[in-house]
Order: sequence, then C-alpha cells, then structure tokens
Amino acid sequence: MKLDAIKTLLNDHNFRLTQERETVLTAFMNADRMLTPAQLHALVKGQQTKVGLTTVYRLLEVLTKVRLATPFLIDGEIFYTFCSEQHHHHFVCLNCHRVKDIYECPAALPANPNFGSIEYHRLDLYGHCPSCDDHEKEGALC
Ligand SMILES: [Zn+2]
Ligand SMILES: [Zn+2]
Ligand SMILES: [Zn+2]
Repeated sequence: MKLDAIKTLLNDHNFRLTQERETVLTAFMNADRMLTPAQLHALVKGQQTKVGLTTVYRLLEVLTKVRLATPFLIDGEIFYTFCSEQHHHHFVCLNCHRVKDIYECPAALPANPNFGSIEYHRLDLYGHCPSCDDHEKEGALC
C-alpha cells in the first residue's frame, strides 16, 4: 500500500498525517520487528522529530482499526507490527521480536451458525526464529 493511500485512509478516520506523524509512520513501516509504542517513540526521537507518545499511541490505534497494524500481547506488553492490507498470519520470534508474514491460510474452521457472522480471523504463531534457535543451541545468551 502506497503512503498516499494510507494518508487518505487515515484522513477518513480523522487522523491527519502531519510531517511529524509521517515520520513515525515511516519508521513503523520500515521496522524489521514488532515494537511497543514506547520503542517506536524512542526510535523517532533520534530523528529530531517532536512527536509525543500520545500521538504514537493514537497512530497505532488508528492503524490497527484500518488493519494496517496488528497488536500482539506478549508478557503483558503490547507490541505492534505494520501489516500490508492482504490477509496473512504471523510468526513472531519471542526473542528478537522479528515478525514473519505467513500467507497460507490454514484456518478452515467449521461453519458454526452459533458464531453469527464472522468478519475476520487471526492466527499468530509464537516461537524462536532460526537464528535465535541457533544461539540457544550454542548456549549463548541473546
Ligand atoms: Zn502482518
Ligand atoms: Zn529471533
Ligand atoms: Zn487466514
């Protein structure tokens, strides 16, 4: 999804993408791992941008609403990852926090009329990526 399209989408949700906010969004889109709002805030702080933590929270909230971000609850903390609009699942490394997208959709749940109408589903896998697994085998502390 192009930045312009995202801008329009956010505008539709009353979130105007100012220059500062765009910096946060770009940093979020380019991050190679999931981030807590505080981590994302710290990431852009170095780029001489004056963005409050509240704005970071708000951006992540709106992005989640339009499904361009997915939150993960890990050990009581919420991490976010940027998501393209195409339906996918995730593999999350609990050690280095890298997120891999899985485009196979295994969730063929039986249709159950008791559920009502289902709008979407989520399936996320948690574990250790190959490089973190190797470290563990070597007995090294990451
Ligand atoms: Zn995703
Ligand atoms: Zn890892
Ligand atoms: Zn799926």
